[in-house]
Amino acid sequence: MMAGMAAPSPWPRLFALTLVVCFSAPRCLEARVEPTHGFDSFSQDEELQLGKQNAAEVMKQMPMLPDSDPVVQYVQRLGGKLTERAPGYKWPYNFHVVNVKEINAFALPGGSIFVNLGTVQAADNEAQLAGVMAHEISHVVQRHGTRAASKQMAAQLPLAILGGIMGNSTLAKAAELGISFGVGSYFLKNSRQSESEADLLGTDIMYDSGYQPQQMAVFFEKLEKQMGAGANSLINQFLSDHPNPGNRAEAVTREVKTLPPRTYVADSADFREIKARAAGMKPLTSEQLAAMQKQGAPPNATAPGPEVTPSANLKVFSHNEYQISYPENWQVFGDQSSGVTIAPRSGVSQNEVSYGVMIANYQPEDAGASLDTATHELLASLRQSNPDLKQIGHDETIRVNGVAGKSVDLVGSSPIKDAQGKPLEERDWVVTVQRKDATVLYLVFISPDKDFPSMRPAFEAMLRTLQMR
Ligand SMILES: [Zn+2]
Repeated sequence: MMAGMAAPSPWPRLFALTLVVCFSAPRCLEARVEPTHGFDSFSQDEELQLGKQNAAEVMKQMPMLPDSDPVVQYVQRLGGKLTERAPGYKWPYNFHVVNVKEINAFALPGGSIFVNLGTVQAADNEAQLAGVMAHEISHVVQRHGTRAASKQMAAQLPLAILGGIMGNSTLAKAAELGISFGVGSYFLKNSRQSESEADLLGTDIMYDSGYQPQQMAVFFEKLEKQMGAGANSLINQFLSDHPNPGNRAEAVTREVKTLPPRTYVADSADFREIKARAAGMKPLTSEQLAAMQKQGAPPNATAPGPEVTPSANLKVFSHNEYQISYPENWQVFGDQSSGVTIAPRSGVSQNEVSYGVMIANYQPEDAGASLDTATHELLASLRQSNPDLKQIGHDETIRVNGVAGKSVDLVGSSPIKDAQGKPLEERDWVVTVQRKDATVLYLVFISPDKDFPSMRPAFEAMLRTLQMR
């Protein structure tokens, strides 16, 4: 006789209870994927610290679109919407757009997620872009990066101990073993197992955010089809970092079937606007990026992007005291009472100007000062607030639309930093113009030195339109 046959089974009663709960709460039918855990020698704090260091490194090495760019702001909004639905530990997620044509996206441990502009350009609808991002978020939730690194460290540690190079903390050990997650890192390459986990969790995040999860698989498969049509360096890296775990679409569909039917948003006006904008942008190709990194040139500065590159179409700015035309894709900052700055939106940050022109009045100490004296006084006062400004060559006497002026070239430090964190050399072209009331109007045309030759024609075109009132 089998044990337990005599006693009444507790199961029927439990079963009934479960049914009751299910009928009254439809969400009980929904089976969300549980984030997986695995051996991880990094604490959450260590993972955050490591992620931060690596994110800073990536931002120095890669050409980033500025946070003020509408495409970045859109990606950040979409990211915020998705991470609200992400399960597990609440990492401080942050989203960045890399100004590169290659279709790729990657997530660093701790929540920094980088999406290439090429990915925004390649997505057919908002759901596809959301799919890529939900997939990356899922890698963060499941700590795939530090788990892979932990495995590697465990394999290397015995050797490290023998070699006597072991630090105390996991971070120190990781540093000694050369573990990093930056550009080109081995740990950005995910295993097929991690891929399938990221797909499943990503499916739930998409579903919960109202995006049709299949669009994630559609996007991945679209890339694979293009790849099948011939080696395509634009998508190579993405598929190599996120290898197909096999039957992506089926796995997503299977997961969706465990969830109640719902309606989805496929697209948004917001996405279409951003997609149109991105289509007009010219991110760096892999070749351009490689060439720049080889030269050691900071890609951030050499890729001013369409917003910085001055449009040939000019717009008029009328001030009480003068009128000047400027590239229509630039903006006027400041007001009539003080000086103004005319610059591309991304050329101005925290009151620092990296590209653009500042226009203001200068009142010489001596009311009867000549333009020459006034100009030298002005230069001295500019140097007082920017001690590293140096004059190159002599000041020249010029005429601006019939009015006497002076032209002086200076070099200083740009707010833009190079790959080592050192400020780029900046060119400041100062022009002073005599005003009727013995004050001086001055203009400072600003650009990183190496971009100055390409900016100069636009600066000169602006100066030619200057009319004093
Ligand atoms: Zn992946």
